[in-house]
Amino acid sequence: MVSRSSAARCYALVPCAGAGERAGAGGPKQYRAVGGRSVVWHTLAALSGVSRLAGTLVVLSAADGEFERHAGEAACWTARVGGATRAASVANGLAALRERGVRDDDWVLVHDAARCLVQPSDIERLIEACEHDAVGGLLALPVADTLKRGSPGDAERVALTLDRRNLWQAQTPQMFRLGLLGEALARAGDAVTDEASAVELLGHSPRLVRGSLENFKLTWPADFALAERLLRTRA
Ligand code: C5P
Repeated sequence: MVSRSSAARCYALVPCAGAGERAGAGGPKQYRAVGGRSVVWHTLAALSGVSRLAGTLVVLSAADGEFERHAGEAACWTARVGGATRAASVANGLAALRERGVRDDDWVLVHDAARCLVQPSDIERLIEACEHDAVGGLLALPVADTLKRGSPGDAERVALTLDRRNLWQAQTPQMFRLGLLGEALARAGDAVTDEASAVELLGHSPRLVRGSLENFKLTWPADFALAERLLRTRA
């Protein structure tokens, strides 16, 4: 048993610098209202319910003038170092954590601002599953549906059916040690859309930890109505 005093330190890093164009008009999706509060308010409330987190850093775009108005009383650090891609925002956020004294062997849980329905229990399950792992891991869901690939010439026609065995949908948080993740993102560049794929490119196999269907990323206009309904059932 590792005692709590010798447990590795865990930090959250929240990329919150996207424009959220797929969510439709109305500004960045992390600041849209859902259940009477902004999306990012709910995200930070969930993180603040996790006692194992020693601190949370929110990565904002340089021009962000809205965060403070939407974040409420959440205790977090901010860094206006958002990049052109999510990967760049996360890499810049890691540098900001380093400046605050976070060490290479500390764990960083990267969590999308736009996944505001995550529950503290999901995050605690990820920490428990990964904190003694050599690599780290991520919340993910086994794919239940049959998967079709749209045809390159006509995206609304099936080109082929994919084998869904062993397929998982990656969610966040994704939990890696700061040193490994920094090296992975520096090597992988801007094209990766999650932290795990950068770590995989170094030859590692991140742990898959079963997440929850409710921890979806608010992406499309209809997602906001669904989030609203789910939040109402939690009150
Ligand atoms: O655009 P996407 O849905 O992949 O964004 C996931 C998360 O990454 C969001 O919380 C968004 O604010 C953030 N992001 C970012 N910097 C970018 C693009 C996205 O921090 N350049």
